[in-house]
Amino acid sequence: MGYDVIVIGGGPSGLMAAIGAGEEGAKVLLLEKGTKLGRKLAISGGGRCNVTNRLPVEEIVRHIPGNGRFLYSAFSVFNNEDIIRFFERLGVPLKEEDHGRMFPKSDSAQSVVDALVRELGRLGVDVRLESPVADVLYEQGKAVGVTLKSGETITARAVVVAVGGKSVPQTGSTGDGYPWAEKAGHTVTELFPTEVPIVSHEPFIKERTLQGLSLRDVALSVLKPNGKPIITHRMDMLFTHFGISGPAALRCSQFVVKALKKAADGAVEMSIDALPDATQEELFQHFAKLCKEEPKKAMKTIAKTVLPERYAVFLLERAGIDPHASAGTVGHEALRAFVRQCKQFTFSVHGTLPLEKAFVTGGGVSVKEIEPKTMASKCMAGLYFCGEILDIHGYTGGYNITAALVTGRLAGVNAARYALTEKSRISGPTGQTTED
Ligand SMILES: Cc1cc2nc3c(=O)[nH]c(=O)nc-3n(C[C@H](O)[C@H](O)[C@H](O)COP(=O)(O)OP(=O)(O)OC[C@H]3O[C@@H](n4cnc5c(N)ncnc54)[C@H](O)[C@@H]3O)c2cc1C
Repeated sequence: MGYDVIVIGGGPSGLMAAIGAGEEGAKVLLLEKGTKLGRKLAISGGGRCNVTNRLPVEEIVRHIPGNGRFLYSAFSVFNNEDIIRFFERLGVPLKEEDHGRMFPKSDSAQSVVDALVRELGRLGVDVRLESPVADVLYEQGKAVGVTLKSGETITARAVVVAVGGKSVPQTGSTGDGYPWAEKAGHTVTELFPTEVPIVSHEPFIKERTLQGLSLRDVALSVLKPNGKPIITHRMDMLFTHFGISGPAALRCSQFVVKALKKAADGAVEMSIDALPDATQEELFQHFAKLCKEEPKKAMKTIAKTVLPERYAVFLLERAGIDPHASAGTVGHEALRAFVRQCKQFTFSVHGTLPLEKAFVTGGGVSVKEIEPKTMASKCMAGLYFCGEILDIHGYTGGYNITAALVTGRLAGVNAARYALTEKSRISGPTGQTTED
């Protein structure tokens, strides 16, 4: 038997798995198809790598809408605080930013990748780059190794599949692992784009009226057909030439994908509350007072006291008010119509950019068939899964990398323990293995 553990994929989950297995004293091989390790990790968080998040575990789980609860067991073994300590030990101290997001103090994602690669070296993990795996080999209900695209076969007592999802395939994540999981008897749930910009065919989008405009700290909602919100996210957002993007839109995107599946007419309504801290009545009183005090001022000058000018003009026009009209000439009914637009500007969306353009892949290997404390397959002995290949997806903000690192750690450590137990089980009394 060649190796104790083979880890396929050099992303955050695979790097962590290989380190975990190495720490357990296993003979480990990490196989990566690309020319470099951690390519997606190196571009994550805008090149600064949002390694994890410092919110309490319950909050982390809440921010992983795709099966976050499955991670409770894993977090009881290794959690976000452990990740922070782990990187500190590797000489990469982290710092906290808004919303609990943790970044390396160096502001360099590459420093995170380099530290993980150094640790692989220190632990004596064999690494082979440009070695795409074509298949995982199973025999008599056990994973026994892999075949490379080159035709070479490498044997191992345990195999960790850490090949990621299908998003941003130029980083190497091309969905290679799903057929290997299915061959072992696993269910792969439907794949869909998450954390992805949203597409709208509304005339104001097509005409690029608001293109490039970002709105700060707005409440963006995806609406049910009855107008009630399915979900609301309060963050920044951006209008683009095809629709909307930015953190609030990315977080809403998976709910758009799901709602569109049920929508008969291919459209889902979204709404923006541009001033979520004020009620409609408070806003009406605010504008009515300003209009009374400054009757000669242009309406857009009044409106831009609380909104970005382009958005103020856009909403005034939608409320049927000439932005250049003197404030004193605008009646209360028109003013109330404008306030309604400020609080609930509703528009239709029709899709998202494709999975390849999404930050994260939704769906994957069903977590029902994975042991939550070890990441072991319930279908095949010696087979482990970790990272984005699993049906787990979180919001941007460090939640996906956290899930990848935590599941990777568990998969690696437990694959090594399994492999070493198997080895000693088959060893003769002299310690000589009888199967090699
Ligand atoms: C632009 C961008 C920014 C992001 N920013 C953040 C962020 O700030 N915070 C956050 O939490 N998440 C972020 N994410 C998501 C996060 O990067 C991923 O969820 C995470 O990298 C998944 O880790 P993984 O190890 O499962 O897979 P990946 O990182 O996708 O790694 C999989 C690896 O497996 C290799 N591989 C694939 N097939 C084979 C094969 N057949 N043989 C051998 N090797 C193979 C690939 O080459 C790749 O190196 C971002 C994603 C993108 C695209």
